[in-house]
Amino acid sequence: MQRASSTWMIWRGMLPTKTREPRMNDSNTSPEQAPIDVRRIAQLLPHRFPFLLIDRVTAWEPGKRLTAIKNVTYNEPFFQGHFPGRPIMPGVLIIEALAQSAAILAIETLELAGSGKLVYFMSIDEAKFRNPVEPGCLLDLHVGFVQKRAGTARHDAVVWGYARAASALGVDIVEGCEVKGFVRSPSGSVVGIETSMGRIVADKVGMAVAGHSSVLAGMAGFRLPVTSYALQAFVSEPLKPALDTVVLSLATGMYISQSDKGGLVIGGGLDRYSSYAQRGNAPVIRDVVGSVAEQFPPFRRVRLLRHWAGIVDVVPDSSPVIGETPVPGLYLNCGWGTGGFKAIPVGGWTLAHHIATGTPHPVARPFQLERFKTGALIDEAAASGIAH
Ligand SMILES: Cc1cc2nc3c(=O)[nH]c(=O)nc-3n(C[C@H](O)[C@H](O)[C@H](O)COP(=O)(O)OP(=O)(O)OC[C@H]3O[C@@H](n4cnc5c(N)ncnc54)[C@H](O)[C@@H]3O)c2cc1C
Repeated sequence: MQRASSTWMIWRGMLPTKTREPRMNDSNTSPEQAPIDVRRIAQLLPHRFPFLLIDRVTAWEPGKRLTAIKNVTYNEPFFQGHFPGRPIMPGVLIIEALAQSAAILAIETLELAGSGKLVYFMSIDEAKFRNPVEPGCLLDLHVGFVQKRAGTARHDAVVWGYARAASALGVDIVEGCEVKGFVRSPSGSVVGIETSMGRIVADKVGMAVAGHSSVLAGMAGFRLPVTSYALQAFVSEPLKPALDTVVLSLATGMYISQSDKGGLVIGGGLDRYSSYAQRGNAPVIRDVVGSVAEQFPPFRRVRLLRHWAGIVDVVPDSSPVIGETPVPGLYLNCGWGTGGFKAIPVGGWTLAHHIATGTPHPVARPFQLERFKTGALIDEAAASGIAH
């Protein structure tokens, strides 16, 4: 049996009245569910012959994605007229099959079965049909949720924005200045730092060096429960606009978008070797690039322009550490792992509060280093958005 090329629909349908839209990273969504047969499909959808266009749901995850199949046979009623002597499934019915798949995902996710509520098909953008679907085809239907509240930001622009604002407030930013040690008072408190440009004294010192937190903690004489991993990113040669959204595949572990300059910006999961090497390992390159090629076959011929790795700081409960260290006068901000960019403003704010007032900010109170001694770990790794 011929398999018709995979078809994608991103579900943007309006939800019937329900408390809220499901979210990509909902912690209560369970992983892949059992297939759904046609008897159950008929309970979920009001559609009937000749308009029920799904034979089986092969796999699905609540709030995330669903795959279904439609066996297209010569007995389909629409082939009588579309077209006599040249049977081709109408494109609008392929879209309808996708819409029915999306409706099942919505109904199962929101537990609407039996409620009498209908899911309506509201709009579709940029549909294209690459191959004719003929009798004998097995139509693969793939649908997924859009995270409507999602957005992207240019990290370098954001960082320079903060740097300029800090500078305007009188903050000195000294670039290319490596911290090589800590200045201690006779009582052992930290009262400054030794740098490659000389000594800087201060009543209190805040440390926010991410993947190098353990190295600097070692200089100060204590150990941290931080593991440092490389996390790679890749940029391709510039292309004409080809991708106008961010695609994140949890199934294959990659994300991809296109920058304003035309390069494809690609990433994946952590290198699973703890390391300070900022170039990353070849197996991860193979896996991430392979996932891109699998999902976007035309990108197979695109050449990578550059890749590099940042060193990220991972703690056992995948949540940040904000607050005091065992050494008086030295404060710490680390543990942001792969998700610190979006969260570091509040990390900086709450650390500044602690340094200025001597007490943890109420928001940051649970995030003290002390929790690894007391065992009061933070059980919200999924909510923190740190993907490890
Ligand atoms: C490839 C990649 C993709 C990522 N994607 C995302 C994403 O999509 N969304 C998201 O939210 N987060 C993402 N992150 C994670 C995010 O970048 C980090 O969590 C965030 O940058 C941490 O901020 P920070 O200020 O704690 O540390 P950093 O931004 O790492 O800054 C630490 C600084 O300390 C400096 N330093 C280290 N040692 C010393 C020393 N001895 N002396 C002086 N300075 C020193 C370093 O040079 C560095 O400038 C990604 C990370 C990587 C590597």
